Amino acid sequence: MNSSFRIMQIKGIPVEVNISWLLIFFLFSLTLAQSYFPSVVAGLTSQTYWISAIITTLILFTSVLVHEFGHSLVAINEGIPIKKITLFIFGGVSQMESEPMSPGTEFKVTAAGPLTSLLIALCLGGFYYLILTPGNIISEAIFFVAQLNLIIAVFNLIPAFPLDGGRIFRSIVWYFNKNMLKATRIAVGLGSILSYLAMGIGFLQVFLQGNLYGLWLIFLGWMINQAGQSSYSQLVFKETFSGMKVSELMSTSLQTVSPDDNLDELAECFLHYKFGAFPVVYGSTTHGLVTLQNMKDIPREKWAETRVSRILTPLKEVMVLTPDTDAAEVMMKMATQNTGRALVMENGDLVGLLSRTDMMRFMQMHMVLGSD
Ligand SMILES: [Zn+2]
Repeated sequence: MNSSFRIMQIKGIPVEVNISWLLIFFLFSLTLAQSYFPSVVAGLTSQTYWISAIITTLILFTSVLVHEFGHSLVAINEGIPIKKITLFIFGGVSQMESEPMSPGTEFKVTAAGPLTSLLIALCLGGFYYLILTPGNIISEAIFFVAQLNLIIAVFNLIPAFPLDGGRIFRSIVWYFNKNMLKATRIAVGLGSILSYLAMGIGFLQVFLQGNLYGLWLIFLGWMINQAGQSSYSQLVFKETFSGMKVSELMSTSLQTVSPDDNLDELAECFLHYKFGAFPVVYGSTTHGLVTLQNMKDIPREKWAETRVSRILTPLKEVMVLTPDTDAAEVMMKMATQNTGRALVMENGDLVGLLSRTDMMRFMQMHMVLGSD
C-alpha cells in the first residue's frame, strides 16, 4: 500500500491520501445515499440523497484528519516533528520522525487522537439533541457524523498495537518496566491475541451464521496482526544494530565475476560457490551485480554466447554503501525497498558485499546470544 498522493499541507505537515481511501469514499457515499439516508428521512429525491451523502462523507474524512492532527499537534508540542499524515482505508497514520522518548510523551501523543474524536462526537451529538430537530436530512447527517466519530474513538482505543489503544497500553507497561522493547513485545502479544480472536469470531460468523460482516472482522484482525508484527521488527532492527557500521557486518572474502564471462561460466560459479549474487568486476572497475534472477530470462541454449555484461544490474541501479554507513538504517532501507544485497565501496574500490540474509543471521545470533 505505497500508492498515496498528496492533497494538501496544513501547518507545514503534508497530508497524503492512500488510493484505498477512494474506494472507501465511494462505498460510504453509496451506502449513505442508497440505504442510510432514505431509511431515516423518507421522500427526498435521489439527487438530494447523493449530495447529502457526498458532503457527509467529506465531513467524515475531515473528522479522521482532525483525529490525526490531534496526535500531530501534541507530538510537535512534545518536540517530535511529524513527517506526514497519511489517510488509509480505516483511518490515518501520523508518521513521526522518531519514536517518543518517554512513556509519558507516548501516552499524551496517543491519547490526543481518540480524545479529539470523542470531543467531536460529544459536540455534534449535543448539538443534535439540544438544538436540532430530528427527521430532516441535515440533522440526521450531523447525528451520523457524531456516531461515526464515537466509533472512530472507540475502535482506536482497542488495545491492539499499533492502534492507539495498543500504544497507550504499551506506554503504561513501559512506564512500569522501564524497557521499551519488552513493553512493545507485550503490547504486540496482546494485539496478536485480540486480532486472532477477531479473526476467529469472523470465521464463526461467516461459516455458522452465514453473516458476511464476519469477513470485515477477519480482514481487520489480519491487518492489525500484520501491522503489529512489522512495527515490532522495525524496533528490533533499531535495537539490534544500534551503533553498528556496515563494515562490521559485510563479507570481505569477495568472489567476483568478469563482465566478459559467458553465462555457462557464470552458472558454474553459482553451482560451485552457492552464492546468490556476484559483483561484476574487471581490473579495478566495478560494473555492477549479477544475481540468479538476472539469468532466469535467458534460454539455456543462449548461455554460451551471452556475456555477463548483457544481463548484469548496472552499478547505478545497485544499492551502494560505504563501510561506515549505519547498519540499522541500511536494514530499514533494505526492508522498505525490498533489496536483498548492497555493494560496499570506498574511494571507488569494491571492499565488501552486504546481504540481507547476513544481517538476518546476525539478528538471530544477537537474539540467542544476547547483546555481547
Ligand atoms: Zn489515532
